[in-house]
Amino acid sequence: MMNTSIPRDSSTVNITLIAPLSGPLVPIERVPDPVFAQKMVGDGISIDPLDQCLRAPCNGEITQLHPAGHAVTVTTPQGIEVLMHIGLDTVGLKGTGFTARVQPGDAVQTGDALIDFDADYIATHAKSLLTQIVIANSERVATFAPRSGQVSAGRDVILDLTLTGGSVEETTDMVKAITSEAIVIPNPTGLHARPAAVLANLAKKFKAEVRIQKGDQQANAKSVVAIMGLEIGHGDKVTLIAKGDDADAAIETLTPLLWEGLGDEGCTPAPAPASFEVSVNSAPAPRPRSENPNLLIGVAASPGLAVGEVFQVRHTEIQISETAEGDPQRERDRLDQAIDQARIQLEALQARLHGERAADKAAIFAAHQELLDDPDLLDIAYSALAKGKSAEFAWQRAFTTHADRLASLRNELLAARANDLRDVGRRVLTLLTGAEPERQEPPTNAILVAEELTPSDTASMDRSKVRGFCTTLGGATSHVAILARSLDIPAVAGIEPRALELPNGTPVILDGGKGTLRLNPTPEDITRIRETQERLAVRRQAEMAVAHEPAITLDGHRMEVVGNIGGLAEAEQVPGLGGEGVGLLRSEFLFLERSTAPSEDEQFETYKSIAEALGPNRPLIIRTLDVGGDKPLIYLPIPKEENPFLGERGLRIGLDRPEILRTQLRAILRAAAFGKVRVMFPMVGLLSELRDAKAMLEEERQRLGVKPIETGIMVEIPAAAIMAAQFAREADFFSIGTNDLTQYTLAMDRGHPKLAPKVDGLNPSVLRLIAWTVEAAHAQGKWVGVCGGIASDPQAVPLLIGLGVDELSVSLPTIPSIKAQIRTLWRHECQDLARRALTLETAAEVRAYCPDPFAAA
Ligand code: PEP
Ligand code: MG
Repeated sequence: MMNTSIPRDSSTVNITLIAPLSGPLVPIERVPDPVFAQKMVGDGISIDPLDQCLRAPCNGEITQLHPAGHAVTVTTPQGIEVLMHIGLDTVGLKGTGFTARVQPGDAVQTGDALIDFDADYIATHAKSLLTQIVIANSERVATFAPRSGQVSAGRDVILDLTLTGGSVEETTDMVKAITSEAIVIPNPTGLHARPAAVLANLAKKFKAEVRIQKGDQQANAKSVVAIMGLEIGHGDKVTLIAKGDDADAAIETLTPLLWEGLGDEGCTPAPAPASFEVSVNSAPAPRPRSENPNLLIGVAASPGLAVGEVFQVRHTEIQISETAEGDPQRERDRLDQAIDQARIQLEALQARLHGERAADKAAIFAAHQELLDDPDLLDIAYSALAKGKSAEFAWQRAFTTHADRLASLRNELLAARANDLRDVGRRVLTLLTGAEPERQEPPTNAILVAEELTPSDTASMDRSKVRGFCTTLGGATSHVAILARSLDIPAVAGIEPRALELPNGTPVILDGGKGTLRLNPTPEDITRIRETQERLAVRRQAEMAVAHEPAITLDGHRMEVVGNIGGLAEAEQVPGLGGEGVGLLRSEFLFLERSTAPSEDEQFETYKSIAEALGPNRPLIIRTLDVGGDKPLIYLPIPKEENPFLGERGLRIGLDRPEILRTQLRAILRAAAFGKVRVMFPMVGLLSELRDAKAMLEEERQRLGVKPIETGIMVEIPAAAIMAAQFAREADFFSIGTNDLTQYTLAMDRGHPKLAPKVDGLNPSVLRLIAWTVEAAHAQGKWVGVCGGIASDPQAVPLLIGLGVDELSVSLPTIPSIKAQIRTLWRHECQDLARRALTLETAAEVRAYCPDPFAAA
């Protein structure tokens, strides 16, 4: 932060700055960045550096050093702030390439080394190496006399300054302070030099003193250096405080601009406070559309076929007024009461669902209850109340802000949580306004069509009438999809928007497995579907009857069939479905939907309960946190990356932030006493990563004094598959994550709307990597599982058996059918099939060669 203890000596009027770097001088106006060129940060000069050490251009004190190490400020004894910014757009390098040699508070002499930097790295990773030397409080300078030509660091003059006479101490006898509401910073890299300069320039347009506050720290919002000194990051909450004549106008003007990101790129869109409309930006990526007017395409969300008629479900908009009628305290009491009531409703709903043995559904509403306690949500609401807004408006602003933020993340999982937040937000809003909860009675055989259905809609749905549903928003991972699967109702998400225009009563067939909605089927179509449904029901019953039998091929080869789960609710279903354990606990689900990371004890309790739900003989493979890439965490900000799937993801994050991984490993090690627990690391590409992770595990194990546990890796990066022989020496088992392995092998984003259909794990290139991995593991006596999506694909199962895979970790509902399928296969035939598949050229050829055994059904 700006150090105000520096005495301001107004008698010294000239300051000479000495070159902090060697190289040609460039006029500031020619810097290819408008923020510098237009002197928004301040007037000064630029150097195109020929050396790699930034030196002090004058005597002074370090009053600001950016955490990314690319910018530093030296304040002279006269209080002149000399800000030096190495390169352009270098904040995004997150410190790579910079080594600070000083820290804030250090006194420096002209020529002292401040920051070492790697010019090659910066030149190839940032927009430019041009280094700016600007006076952040330029209003104190009467004349700037920049030099030109080539300069040598520590020797030549670059800039002569004449200071304005007199001191510019701020007036302190302001009448009253106006404070803004809490503002959540949307800028991906926080308020770095560019947005700080924009804010300072805007603030300078007002006569009032404007300050920006983060936590208990405040800074002058007209000073770039002071703003940067607050180290305001993405998602931080700040308030503006203005004092003076035009204080009101300053707050009114600057607040929305801060919400919008001050013109920075990549900011989360500003919330639309007075509306429930879903922002266009939050709509999921475009999905394929059908050419056939009678066929609408979406994403398979819950399998099954349903025949029925369209029933459109609409949420009516709740009318609210912005300004409070009562005083802020009264509004706050109203809001608190409504939240308490919502909590009671949610508790009752959970109790009812538990009574119906629907623990998984109850868990969703438990998560809703947790959302009501989110401190950030309440902070935003309370701060709007303090500004005289009504409880309805304040609450709506708070939850729509958060929901929009989640929805704008390019991640279906988190975007889906936005729907939950809107659902619980709407619940409170309904209680606040006293609006009648909406009740729309569907006809019998209804296929619900909606833009979005909330978990509350689905939970209150009349099962005797609703046959299925489809939504234009959401994806296969949304809570509504999860609810649909648990209710055993066919559902399609992300359907083409024209579904919303279908008149009520339109006859349709919903195929939740294929993700389609067929319009106007013929009577023959309907008869055929009904027959298929009956056959499926009979088959499912037969499979369930023997689900607990082992999965042994006709020639006596036993396959282990285990399940992929995301938490306790699913773990509880595993034994009943005949699951022989859990091959993949995606532990990241425990970390999502919350504002802070779960503690070691909390994680331990969850892992312990899951292990106990499985019993002592069913293995539980806990995969350590696999976030990053497409799975960001709100409380674990990972700076925006050009290629997040190739960036800090999975184990890389755990190794970079060891406190997270160590905490999780301790919880897993402790839980191992309660079951057959194994640990698995995701996204391993290098042997060194596995070694580092294992070393951490061993250290924590020794600290806890517990027994070692089996340690495996996900094989999902081609490098791990290719180096399987080397990895097999150091890992106890492999589990092939074909979802990622396929995307990395084919270099096709698995969630890409156009490419996704080609990201097929049956591509021979992936099959070859599987074959190679299995061979290398078996040569060293290690076993191999597959936990990616193809393990649940009946067309792939014979191939995987033929390739020698030992364990299939599948989605829970498919456990009985996969086991049943295995019992119909001859292993030697599977081996022939696999051998032949490896010689084929395309995934389509492989699929044509391995027909779906259940296609006829
Ligand atoms: C995989 O990549 O195949 C896998 C199982 O992991 P996830 O889908 O969680 O990335
Ligand atoms: Mg994966």
